[in-house]
Amino acid sequence: MMKVMNYINGEWIEPSVSEYVDVINPATGVLEARTPICGKDAVEAAARAAAEALPAWRRVSAQDRVQYLFKFKFLLEDNLDEISRTITNECGKTYEEAKAEMRRAIENVEVACGIPMMSKGEISEDIAPGIDEIMLRQPVGVCATIAPFNFPGMIPFWYLPYVLATGNTYIVKPSERVPMTMMVIFRLVEKLGLPKGVINMVHGTREVVDAILDHPAVRAITFVGSTTTARYIYRRAAENGKRVQAQGGAKNPVIVMPDADMEMATKIIADSAFGCAGQRCLAVSWAVTVGEARNTFMEMICDAAASRKVGYGLEDGVQMGPVINQVSKARIEQMISAGVGAGASVPVDGRGTSVKGYESGAFVRPTILADVRPGSEIATTEIFGPVLSLMHVSTIDEAIALANSGQYGNQASLFTSSGSAARRFRYEVDAGNIGINIGVAAPMAFFPFSGWKDSFFGDMHGQGMDAVEFFTQKKIVVERWPKEWARKF
Ligand code: NAD
Repeated sequence: MMKVMNYINGEWIEPSVSEYVDVINPATGVLEARTPICGKDAVEAAARAAAEALPAWRRVSAQDRVQYLFKFKFLLEDNLDEISRTITNECGKTYEEAKAEMRRAIENVEVACGIPMMSKGEISEDIAPGIDEIMLRQPVGVCATIAPFNFPGMIPFWYLPYVLATGNTYIVKPSERVPMTMMVIFRLVEKLGLPKGVINMVHGTREVVDAILDHPAVRAITFVGSTTTARYIYRRAAENGKRVQAQGGAKNPVIVMPDADMEMATKIIADSAFGCAGQRCLAVSWAVTVGEARNTFMEMICDAAASRKVGYGLEDGVQMGPVINQVSKARIEQMISAGVGAGASVPVDGRGTSVKGYESGAFVRPTILADVRPGSEIATTEIFGPVLSLMHVSTIDEAIALANSGQYGNQASLFTSSGSAARRFRYEVDAGNIGINIGVAAPMAFFPFSGWKDSFFGDMHGQGMDAVEFFTQKKIVVERWPKEWARKF
Protein backbone atom coordinates (compact mmCIF):
# COMPACT_ATOMS: atom_id res chain seq x y z
CA MET A 1 0.00 0.00 0.00
CA MET A 2 1.33 3.44 -0.94
CA LYS A 3 1.92 5.89 1.90
CA VAL A 4 0.40 9.28 1.07
CA MET A 5 2.32 12.22 2.48
CA ASN A 6 2.50 15.97 2.18
CA TYR A 7 5.47 17.58 0.45
CA ILE A 8 6.35 20.86 2.12
CA ASN A 9 9.51 22.93 1.87
CA GLY A 10 11.34 20.22 -0.06
CA GLU A 11 10.56 17.48 2.45
CA TRP A 12 8.11 14.60 2.74
CA ILE A 13 6.00 15.06 5.83
CA GLU A 14 3.84 12.35 7.28
CA PRO A 15 0.86 14.21 8.68
CA SER A 16 -0.45 13.16 12.04
CA VAL A 17 -4.19 13.07 11.48
CA SER A 18 -7.07 11.00 12.78
CA GLU A 19 -9.09 10.88 9.57
CA TYR A 20 -8.27 9.17 6.26
CA VAL A 21 -10.10 8.50 2.99
CA ASP A 22 -9.57 4.99 1.62
CA VAL A 23 -8.29 4.88 -1.96
CA ILE A 24 -9.79 1.70 -3.38
CA ASN A 25 -8.83 0.44 -6.83
CA PRO A 26 -12.18 0.85 -8.62
CA ALA A 27 -11.62 -2.29 -10.73
CA THR A 28 -10.10 -4.75 -8.27
CA GLY A 29 -11.55 -3.45 -5.02
CA VAL A 30 -8.06 -3.57 -3.45
CA LEU A 31 -7.14 -0.88 -0.91
CA GLU A 32 -4.28 1.00 -2.62
CA ALA A 33 -3.67 3.87 -0.18
CA ARG A 34 -5.23 6.06 2.49
CA THR A 35 -5.38 9.81 2.01
CA PRO A 36 -4.66 11.75 5.20
CA ILE A 37 -7.29 14.42 5.77
CA CYS A 38 -5.08 17.29 6.88
CA GLY A 39 -6.12 20.53 8.49
CA LYS A 40 -5.26 24.21 8.47
CA ASP A 41 -1.81 23.65 9.98
CA ALA A 42 -0.59 21.79 6.86
CA VAL A 43 -1.73 24.66 4.62
CA GLU A 44 -0.11 27.16 6.98
CA ALA A 45 3.22 25.31 6.69
CA ALA A 46 2.96 25.00 2.90
CA ALA A 47 1.96 28.65 2.41
CA ARG A 48 4.81 29.79 4.66
CA ALA A 49 7.31 27.69 2.72
CA ALA A 50 5.98 28.96 -0.62
CA ALA A 51 5.99 32.58 0.56
CA GLU A 52 9.55 32.29 1.87
CA ALA A 53 10.77 30.72 -1.36
CA LEU A 54 9.20 33.42 -3.51
CA PRO A 55 11.68 36.34 -3.33
CA ALA A 56 14.65 34.24 -4.43
CA TRP A 57 12.71 32.20 -7.00
CA ARG A 58 11.30 35.24 -8.81
CA ARG A 59 14.86 36.54 -9.15
CA VAL A 60 15.99 33.42 -11.00
CA SER A 61 15.91 34.31 -14.69
CA ALA A 62 13.11 32.85 -16.79
CA GLN A 63 15.70 31.03 -18.94
CA ASP A 64 17.11 29.36 -15.84
CA ARG A 65 13.66 28.54 -14.44
CA VAL A 66 12.64 26.68 -17.58
CA GLN A 67 15.74 24.48 -17.38
CA TYR A 68 13.95 22.68 -14.53
CA LEU A 69 11.01 22.10 -16.87
CA PHE A 70 13.20 20.62 -19.61
CA LYS A 71 14.49 18.16 -17.02
CA PHE A 72 10.93 17.53 -15.78
CA LYS A 73 9.72 16.65 -19.30
CA PHE A 74 12.30 13.89 -19.66
CA LEU A 75 11.69 12.56 -16.14
CA LEU A 76 7.95 12.37 -16.84
CA GLU A 77 8.57 10.58 -20.14
CA ASP A 78 10.99 8.11 -18.58
CA ASN A 79 8.44 7.33 -15.89
CA LEU A 80 5.33 7.34 -18.08
CA ASP A 81 4.62 3.67 -17.52
CA GLU A 82 4.63 3.88 -13.71
CA ILE A 83 2.57 7.08 -13.68
CA SER A 84 0.01 5.65 -16.12
CA ARG A 85 -0.36 2.41 -14.15
CA THR A 86 -0.90 4.43 -11.00
CA ILE A 87 -3.62 6.47 -12.73
CA THR A 88 -5.37 3.26 -13.83
CA ASN A 89 -5.14 1.74 -10.38
CA GLU A 90 -6.57 4.67 -8.49
CA CYS A 91 -8.89 6.22 -11.08
CA GLY A 92 -10.03 3.22 -13.16
CA LYS A 93 -9.41 4.47 -16.71
CA THR A 94 -7.53 2.22 -19.12
CA TYR A 95 -3.73 2.25 -19.38
CA GLU A 96 -3.92 3.84 -22.87
CA GLU A 97 -6.25 6.56 -21.59
CA ALA A 98 -3.91 7.19 -18.68
CA LYS A 99 -0.95 7.50 -21.05
CA ALA A 100 -2.87 9.93 -23.26
CA GLU A 101 -3.68 11.98 -20.18
CA MET A 102 0.01 12.22 -19.30
CA ARG A 103 0.92 13.14 -22.89
CA ARG A 104 -1.21 16.27 -22.51
CA ALA A 105 0.45 16.96 -19.14
CA ILE A 106 3.90 16.72 -20.75
CA GLU A 107 2.74 18.91 -23.64
CA ASN A 108 1.97 21.63 -21.09
CA VAL A 109 5.51 21.34 -19.72
CA GLU A 110 6.82 21.75 -23.28
CA VAL A 111 4.70 24.84 -23.92
CA ALA A 112 5.74 26.42 -20.62
CA CYS A 113 9.38 26.01 -21.68
CA GLY A 114 8.62 28.92 -24.03
CA ILE A 115 7.83 31.28 -21.17
CA PRO A 116 10.96 33.44 -21.56
CA MET A 117 9.36 34.43 -24.89
CA MET A 118 5.71 34.31 -23.77
CA SER A 119 6.12 36.45 -20.66
CA LYS A 120 8.30 39.24 -21.95
CA GLY A 121 7.05 42.78 -21.49
CA GLU A 122 6.41 45.67 -23.89
CA ILE A 123 7.83 49.14 -24.33
CA SER A 124 6.66 52.28 -26.14
CA GLU A 125 9.43 54.83 -26.53
CA ASP A 126 8.83 58.57 -26.58
CA ILE A 127 5.14 58.65 -25.70
CA ALA A 128 6.15 62.28 -25.07
CA PRO A 129 9.65 63.70 -25.59
CA GLY A 130 12.05 61.78 -23.34
CA ILE A 131 9.28 59.65 -21.80
CA ASP A 132 8.97 55.90 -22.26
CA GLU A 133 6.18 53.61 -21.12
CA ILE A 134 6.97 50.03 -20.20
CA MET A 135 4.77 47.06 -19.34
CA LEU A 136 6.44 44.45 -17.16
CA ARG A 137 5.01 41.05 -16.24
CA GLN A 138 5.73 40.01 -12.70
CA PRO A 139 4.71 36.87 -10.79
CA VAL A 140 1.49 37.10 -8.76
CA GLY A 141 3.00 35.28 -5.76
CA VAL A 142 1.96 32.04 -4.10
CA CYS A 143 -0.50 30.12 -6.32
CA ALA A 144 -2.60 27.05 -5.54
CA THR A 145 -4.53 24.39 -7.46
CA ILE A 146 -7.42 22.30 -6.15
CA ALA A 147 -7.86 19.29 -8.43
CA PRO A 148 -10.66 16.80 -9.25
CA PHE A 149 -10.48 12.99 -9.38
CA ASN A 150 -10.92 12.31 -13.08
CA PHE A 151 -7.53 13.43 -14.46
CA PRO A 152 -5.16 13.00 -11.50
CA GLY A 153 -2.04 13.58 -13.62
CA MET A 154 -3.06 16.02 -16.33
CA ILE A 155 -5.13 18.69 -14.62
CA PRO A 156 -2.46 20.01 -12.23
CA PHE A 157 -0.28 20.42 -15.36
CA TRP A 158 -2.71 22.94 -16.87
CA TYR A 159 -1.14 25.22 -14.26
CA LEU A 160 1.97 23.85 -12.52
CA PRO A 161 4.54 24.35 -15.33
CA TYR A 162 3.31 27.90 -16.00
CA VAL A 163 3.33 28.79 -12.28
CA LEU A 164 6.95 27.73 -11.94
CA ALA A 165 8.21 29.23 -15.19
CA THR A 166 6.61 32.62 -14.49
CA GLY A 167 8.43 32.85 -11.14
CA ASN A 168 5.62 32.00 -8.74
CA THR A 169 5.59 29.38 -6.02
CA TYR A 170 2.94 26.70 -5.64
CA ILE A 171 0.71 24.50 -3.52
CA VAL A 172 -1.29 21.67 -5.08
CA LYS A 173 -4.12 19.80 -3.41
CA PRO A 174 -4.97 16.60 -5.32
CA SER A 175 -8.40 15.02 -5.03
CA GLU A 176 -8.55 12.91 -1.87
CA ARG A 177 -9.92 10.11 -4.07
CA VAL A 178 -6.77 9.91 -6.25
CA PRO A 179 -3.69 11.08 -4.31
CA MET A 180 -1.25 8.46 -5.62
CA THR A 181 -0.49 9.85 -9.08
CA MET A 182 0.78 13.13 -7.67
CA MET A 183 2.82 11.15 -5.10
CA VAL A 184 4.61 9.42 -7.99
CA ILE A 185 5.02 12.73 -9.83
CA PHE A 186 6.36 14.50 -6.73
CA ARG A 187 9.07 11.82 -6.42
CA LEU A 188 10.19 13.19 -9.79
CA VAL A 189 9.79 16.78 -8.60
CA GLU A 190 12.25 15.88 -5.83
CA LYS A 191 14.84 14.96 -8.49
CA LEU A 192 14.55 18.36 -10.19
CA GLY A 193 16.62 20.04 -7.49
CA LEU A 194 14.26 23.02 -7.23
CA PRO A 195 14.87 25.38 -4.33
CA LYS A 196 12.98 24.33 -1.18
CA GLY A 197 9.42 25.59 -0.91
CA VAL A 198 8.92 26.42 -4.60
CA ILE A 199 6.43 23.58 -5.00
CA ASN A 200 4.41 21.96 -2.24
CA MET A 201 1.62 19.40 -1.92
CA VAL A 202 -1.03 19.09 0.78
CA HIS A 203 -3.71 16.40 1.04
CA GLY A 204 -7.18 16.78 2.45
CA THR A 205 -10.71 17.92 1.77
CA ARG A 206 -12.82 20.90 2.71
CA GLU A 207 -10.78 22.17 5.67
CA VAL A 208 -7.60 22.26 3.59
CA VAL A 209 -9.42 23.93 0.69
CA ASP A 210 -10.93 26.60 2.96
CA ALA A 211 -7.52 27.26 4.52
CA ILE A 212 -6.08 27.79 1.02
CA LEU A 213 -8.97 30.07 0.03
CA ASP A 214 -8.53 32.17 3.17
CA HIS A 215 -4.74 32.28 3.46
CA PRO A 216 -3.45 35.83 2.94
CA ALA A 217 -0.19 34.63 1.32
CA VAL A 218 -2.03 32.73 -1.44
CA ARG A 219 -2.68 35.19 -4.27
CA ALA A 220 -4.08 33.08 -7.11
CA ILE A 221 -6.24 29.94 -7.12
CA THR A 222 -7.18 27.54 -9.87
CA PHE A 223 -9.90 24.97 -9.35
CA VAL A 224 -11.32 22.15 -11.45
CA GLY A 225 -14.29 20.08 -10.28
CA SER A 226 -18.06 20.11 -10.04
CA THR A 227 -20.09 23.27 -10.61
CA THR A 228 -21.36 23.41 -7.03
CA THR A 229 -17.82 23.44 -5.65
CA ALA A 230 -16.53 25.71 -8.44
CA ARG A 231 -19.13 28.34 -7.60
CA TYR A 232 -18.24 28.15 -3.90
CA ILE A 233 -14.49 28.38 -4.58
CA TYR A 234 -14.95 31.30 -6.96
CA ARG A 235 -17.08 33.30 -4.50
CA ARG A 236 -14.94 32.70 -1.44
CA ALA A 237 -11.59 33.28 -3.15
CA ALA A 238 -12.86 36.42 -4.91
CA GLU A 239 -14.29 37.73 -1.65
CA ASN A 240 -10.80 37.34 -0.19
CA GLY A 241 -9.40 39.43 -3.03
CA LYS A 242 -7.63 36.60 -4.82
CA ARG A 243 -7.28 35.99 -8.51
CA VAL A 244 -9.37 32.90 -9.25
CA GLN A 245 -10.51 30.68 -12.08
CA ALA A 246 -12.84 27.74 -11.46
CA GLN A 247 -13.76 25.09 -14.04
CA GLY A 248 -17.08 23.40 -13.33
CA GLY A 249 -19.17 20.49 -14.58
CA ALA A 250 -20.64 19.78 -17.98
CA LYS A 251 -23.44 18.20 -19.98
CA ASN A 252 -22.12 18.13 -23.52
CA PRO A 253 -24.41 17.78 -26.55
CA VAL A 254 -23.61 16.38 -29.97
CA ILE A 255 -25.76 16.98 -33.03
CA VAL A 256 -25.79 14.35 -35.77
CA MET A 257 -26.92 15.65 -39.18
CA PRO A 258 -28.35 13.34 -41.88
CA ASP A 259 -25.34 14.14 -44.12
CA ALA A 260 -22.79 12.98 -41.52
CA ASP A 261 -20.45 10.08 -42.23
CA MET A 262 -22.34 7.74 -39.90
CA GLU A 263 -19.59 5.21 -39.44
CA MET A 264 -17.08 7.86 -38.42
CA ALA A 265 -19.66 9.70 -36.28
CA THR A 266 -20.65 6.56 -34.41
CA LYS A 267 -17.10 5.52 -33.62
CA ILE A 268 -16.07 8.98 -32.45
CA ILE A 269 -19.23 9.62 -30.43
CA ALA A 270 -18.96 6.21 -28.74
CA ASP A 271 -15.33 6.97 -27.83
CA SER A 272 -16.38 10.34 -26.44
CA ALA A 273 -19.38 9.07 -24.45
CA PHE A 274 -17.77 5.89 -23.07
CA GLY A 275 -14.05 6.75 -22.99
CA CYS A 276 -12.81 7.19 -19.39
CA ALA A 277 -16.18 5.58 -18.49
CA GLY A 278 -17.85 8.89 -19.30
CA GLN A 279 -15.98 10.60 -16.47
CA ARG A 280 -14.53 13.33 -18.62
CA CYS A 281 -15.68 16.94 -18.62
CA LEU A 282 -15.60 16.86 -22.45
CA ALA A 283 -17.55 13.59 -22.76
CA VAL A 284 -20.55 13.71 -25.03
CA SER A 285 -23.56 13.09 -22.80
CA TRP A 286 -26.54 13.55 -25.13
CA ALA A 287 -26.95 13.17 -28.87
CA VAL A 288 -29.55 14.98 -30.94
CA THR A 289 -30.27 13.42 -34.31
CA VAL A 290 -31.70 15.62 -37.04
CA GLY A 291 -34.23 14.31 -39.60
CA GLU A 292 -33.22 11.06 -41.25
CA ALA A 293 -30.13 10.60 -39.10
CA ARG A 294 -32.29 9.07 -36.38
CA ASN A 295 -32.67 5.40 -37.24
CA THR A 296 -29.20 4.71 -38.68
CA PHE A 297 -27.42 6.47 -35.83
CA MET A 298 -29.55 4.81 -33.17
CA GLU A 299 -28.87 1.34 -34.53
CA MET A 300 -25.13 1.92 -34.96
CA ILE A 301 -24.53 3.61 -31.60
CA CYS A 302 -26.41 0.83 -29.79
CA ASP A 303 -24.13 -1.76 -31.44
CA ALA A 304 -21.05 0.28 -30.52
CA ALA A 305 -22.20 0.59 -26.89
CA ALA A 306 -23.12 -3.06 -26.50
CA SER A 307 -19.85 -4.34 -27.99
CA ARG A 308 -17.47 -2.23 -25.89
CA LYS A 309 -15.11 -4.39 -23.84
CA VAL A 310 -15.31 -3.43 -20.19
CA GLY A 311 -12.79 -4.51 -17.53
CA TYR A 312 -9.64 -3.77 -15.56
CA GLY A 313 -7.75 -1.06 -17.44
CA LEU A 314 -4.36 -2.80 -17.21
CA GLU A 315 -5.61 -5.83 -19.15
CA ASP A 316 -5.11 -6.07 -22.90
CA GLY A 317 -8.04 -5.24 -25.11
CA VAL A 318 -10.07 -3.50 -22.39
CA GLN A 319 -11.77 -0.42 -23.86
CA MET A 320 -13.49 0.92 -20.77
CA GLY A 321 -12.73 0.72 -17.06
CA PRO A 322 -14.96 1.12 -14.02
CA VAL A 323 -16.33 4.38 -12.62
CA ILE A 324 -14.51 5.87 -9.64
CA ASN A 325 -16.29 4.02 -6.81
CA GLN A 326 -19.37 2.12 -5.68
CA VAL A 327 -21.11 5.32 -4.57
CA SER A 328 -20.74 6.72 -8.06
CA LYS A 329 -21.93 3.44 -9.63
CA ALA A 330 -25.06 3.49 -7.45
CA ARG A 331 -25.70 7.15 -8.28
CA ILE A 332 -25.36 6.56 -12.05
CA GLU A 333 -27.62 3.51 -11.95
CA GLN A 334 -30.20 5.42 -9.97
CA MET A 335 -30.12 8.23 -12.57
CA ILE A 336 -30.62 5.72 -15.40
CA SER A 337 -33.61 4.28 -13.52
CA ALA A 338 -35.03 7.77 -12.97
CA GLY A 339 -34.66 8.45 -16.71
CA VAL A 340 -36.55 5.24 -17.50
CA GLY A 341 -39.17 6.21 -14.92
CA ALA A 342 -39.57 9.54 -16.74
CA GLY A 343 -40.40 7.80 -20.02
CA ALA A 344 -37.04 7.01 -21.70
CA SER A 345 -36.43 3.58 -23.18
CA VAL A 346 -33.14 1.80 -22.52
CA PRO A 347 -32.07 -0.19 -25.62
CA VAL A 348 -28.62 -0.81 -24.10
CA ASP A 349 -28.69 -1.17 -20.32
CA GLY A 350 -25.43 -1.11 -18.36
CA ARG A 351 -26.97 -1.42 -14.91
CA GLY A 352 -26.44 -4.30 -12.50
CA THR A 353 -23.35 -5.59 -14.20
CA SER A 354 -20.15 -7.19 -12.98
CA VAL A 355 -16.93 -8.24 -14.69
CA LYS A 356 -15.67 -11.80 -14.27
CA GLY A 357 -12.66 -11.88 -11.97
CA TYR A 358 -13.39 -8.34 -10.74
CA GLU A 359 -16.69 -8.83 -8.99
CA SER A 360 -16.03 -6.06 -6.46
CA GLY A 361 -15.27 -3.51 -9.18
CA ALA A 362 -17.45 -0.43 -9.72
CA PHE A 363 -18.46 -1.29 -13.28
CA VAL A 364 -21.34 0.26 -15.18
CA ARG A 365 -21.50 -0.86 -18.82
CA PRO A 366 -22.20 1.60 -21.64
CA THR A 367 -25.84 2.60 -21.56
CA ILE A 368 -28.08 4.15 -24.22
CA LEU A 369 -31.26 5.93 -23.21
CA ALA A 370 -33.58 6.65 -26.15
CA ASP A 371 -36.57 8.98 -26.56
CA VAL A 372 -35.31 11.15 -23.73
CA ARG A 373 -37.55 14.15 -23.14
CA PRO A 374 -35.73 17.48 -23.62
CA GLY A 375 -35.65 19.38 -20.34
CA SER A 376 -36.14 16.24 -18.21
CA GLU A 377 -33.75 15.59 -15.33
CA ILE A 378 -31.71 12.93 -17.15
CA ALA A 379 -31.41 15.29 -20.13
CA THR A 380 -30.06 18.22 -18.10
CA THR A 381 -28.16 16.83 -15.07
CA GLU A 382 -24.49 15.86 -15.30
CA ILE A 383 -24.29 12.06 -14.97
CA PHE A 384 -20.49 11.60 -15.15
CA GLY A 385 -20.79 8.00 -16.23
CA PRO A 386 -20.99 5.95 -19.48
CA VAL A 387 -24.53 6.96 -20.39
CA LEU A 388 -25.62 8.52 -23.68
CA SER A 389 -29.12 10.00 -24.00
CA LEU A 390 -30.71 10.21 -27.45
CA MET A 391 -33.14 12.89 -28.61
CA HIS A 392 -34.55 13.69 -32.01
CA VAL A 393 -35.58 16.89 -33.83
CA SER A 394 -36.48 17.78 -37.40
CA THR A 395 -34.23 20.76 -38.15
CA ILE A 396 -30.82 22.17 -37.31
CA ASP A 397 -32.57 25.26 -35.84
CA GLU A 398 -34.29 23.07 -33.26
CA ALA A 399 -31.06 21.18 -32.60
CA ILE A 400 -29.05 24.36 -31.96
CA ALA A 401 -31.80 25.76 -29.72
CA LEU A 402 -31.73 22.50 -27.75
CA ALA A 403 -27.93 22.51 -27.51
CA ASN A 404 -28.09 26.04 -26.08
CA SER A 405 -30.87 25.29 -23.62
CA GLY A 406 -28.82 23.84 -20.76
CA GLN A 407 -26.99 25.47 -17.86
CA TYR A 408 -23.54 24.25 -18.95
CA GLY A 409 -21.28 25.36 -21.79
CA ASN A 410 -18.17 23.21 -21.74
CA GLN A 411 -18.34 21.56 -25.15
CA ALA A 412 -20.69 21.03 -28.09
CA SER A 413 -20.08 18.92 -31.21
CA LEU A 414 -21.59 18.61 -34.64
CA PHE A 415 -21.24 15.76 -37.15
CA THR A 416 -21.90 16.85 -40.72
CA SER A 417 -20.37 17.11 -44.18
CA SER A 418 -21.89 20.56 -44.71
CA GLY A 419 -19.54 23.53 -44.35
CA SER A 420 -22.38 25.98 -43.88
CA ALA A 421 -24.01 23.90 -41.12
CA ALA A 422 -20.62 23.67 -39.43
CA ARG A 423 -20.00 27.41 -39.66
CA ARG A 424 -23.43 28.20 -38.31
CA PHE A 425 -22.96 25.76 -35.43
CA ARG A 426 -19.60 27.13 -34.37
CA TYR A 427 -20.99 30.68 -34.59
CA GLU A 428 -24.24 30.17 -32.70
CA VAL A 429 -23.55 27.53 -30.07
CA ASP A 430 -22.88 28.75 -26.53
CA ALA A 431 -19.98 26.55 -25.47
CA GLY A 432 -16.32 27.19 -24.86
CA ASN A 433 -15.00 24.16 -26.78
CA ILE A 434 -16.52 23.25 -30.14
CA GLY A 435 -15.99 20.02 -32.08
CA ILE A 436 -16.82 19.71 -35.78
CA ASN A 437 -16.66 15.99 -36.55
CA ILE A 438 -14.73 15.74 -33.27
CA GLY A 439 -16.03 14.03 -30.13
CA VAL A 440 -13.61 15.32 -27.49
CA ALA A 441 -12.59 18.84 -28.47
CA ALA A 442 -9.75 18.99 -25.95
CA PRO A 443 -7.53 21.99 -26.68
CA MET A 444 -3.81 21.41 -27.23
CA ALA A 445 -1.63 22.90 -24.50
CA PHE A 446 -0.91 26.02 -26.56
CA PHE A 447 -4.64 26.91 -26.58
CA PRO A 448 -6.63 27.81 -23.46
CA PHE A 449 -8.96 25.16 -22.03
CA SER A 450 -12.17 27.10 -22.36
CA GLY A 451 -15.63 26.69 -20.83
CA TRP A 452 -18.74 28.91 -20.73
CA LYS A 453 -21.87 29.39 -18.65
CA ASP A 454 -21.95 27.24 -15.49
CA SER A 455 -18.92 25.27 -16.69
CA PHE A 456 -16.54 28.10 -15.85
CA PHE A 457 -16.24 30.92 -13.36
CA GLY A 458 -13.55 33.47 -14.02
CA ASP A 459 -11.87 35.13 -16.93
CA MET A 460 -8.52 33.68 -17.98
CA HIS A 461 -8.29 29.91 -18.43
CA GLY A 462 -5.62 27.25 -17.95
CA GLN A 463 -2.92 26.32 -20.52
CA GLY A 464 -0.98 28.42 -23.00
CA MET A 465 -0.99 32.23 -23.05
CA ASP A 466 -4.06 32.38 -20.77
CA ALA A 467 -2.01 30.65 -18.07
CA VAL A 468 0.81 33.14 -18.55
CA GLU A 469 -1.71 35.99 -18.21
CA PHE A 470 -3.27 34.43 -15.13
CA PHE A 471 -0.02 33.80 -13.29
CA THR A 472 1.55 37.19 -14.04
CA GLN A 473 0.48 40.66 -13.06
CA LYS A 474 1.16 43.64 -15.25
CA LYS A 475 3.11 46.60 -13.99
CA ILE A 476 3.18 49.78 -16.06
CA VAL A 477 6.20 52.04 -15.69
CA VAL A 478 6.35 55.56 -17.12
CA GLU A 479 9.92 56.94 -17.20
CA ARG A 480 11.25 60.39 -18.05
CA TRP A 481 14.83 60.73 -19.23
CA PRO A 482 15.39 64.28 -20.53
CA LYS A 483 18.00 64.47 -23.29
CA GLU A 484 19.94 67.16 -21.51
CA TRP A 485 20.68 64.81 -18.58
CA ALA A 486 22.47 62.44 -20.91
CA ARG A 487 24.63 65.32 -22.19
CA LYS A 488 25.96 65.90 -18.67
CA PHE A 489 28.21 62.81 -18.94
P1 NAD B 1 -15.53 17.84 -6.78
O1 NAD B 1 -16.09 19.20 -6.95
O2 NAD B 1 -16.26 16.88 -5.91
O3 NAD B 1 -14.04 17.92 -6.13
C1 NAD B 1 -13.03 18.69 -6.71
C2 NAD B 1 -12.07 19.16 -5.63
O4 NAD B 1 -12.78 20.01 -4.72
C3 NAD B 1 -11.47 18.04 -4.79
O5 NAD B 1 -10.10 18.33 -4.57
C4 NAD B 1 -12.27 18.08 -3.48
O6 NAD B 1 -11.49 17.70 -2.36
C5 NAD B 1 -12.66 19.54 -3.38
N1 NAD B 1 -13.98 19.73 -2.76
C6 NAD B 1 -15.08 18.96 -2.95
N2 NAD B 1 -16.13 19.47 -2.24
C7 NAD B 1 -15.67 20.58 -1.62
C8 NAD B 1 -16.29 21.55 -0.77
N3 NAD B 1 -17.55 21.47 -0.41
N4 NAD B 1 -15.51 22.56 -0.32
C9 NAD B 1 -14.22 22.67 -0.68
N5 NAD B 1 -13.59 21.77 -1.48
C10 NAD B 1 -14.31 20.75 -1.95
O7 NAD B 1 -15.30 17.23 -8.24
P2 NAD B 1 -14.86 15.75 -8.63
O8 NAD B 1 -16.00 14.83 -8.37
O9 NAD B 1 -13.54 15.42 -8.06
O10 NAD B 1 -14.65 15.90 -10.21
C11 NAD B 1 -15.68 15.70 -11.15
C12 NAD B 1 -16.27 17.00 -11.60
O11 NAD B 1 -15.25 17.82 -12.16
C13 NAD B 1 -17.30 16.85 -12.70
O12 NAD B 1 -18.37 17.72 -12.43
C14 NAD B 1 -16.55 17.28 -13.96
O13 NAD B 1 -17.38 17.77 -15.00
C15 NAD B 1 -15.67 18.34 -13.42
N6 NAD B 1 -14.52 18.57 -14.27
C16 NAD B 1 -14.51 19.71 -15.02
C17 NAD B 1 -13.45 19.96 -15.87
C18 NAD B 1 -13.45 21.19 -16.72
O14 NAD B 1 -12.43 21.47 -17.33
N7 NAD B 1 -14.54 21.94 -16.78
C19 NAD B 1 -12.39 19.04 -15.95
C20 NAD B 1 -12.43 17.90 -15.16
C21 NAD B 1 -13.51 17.67 -14.32
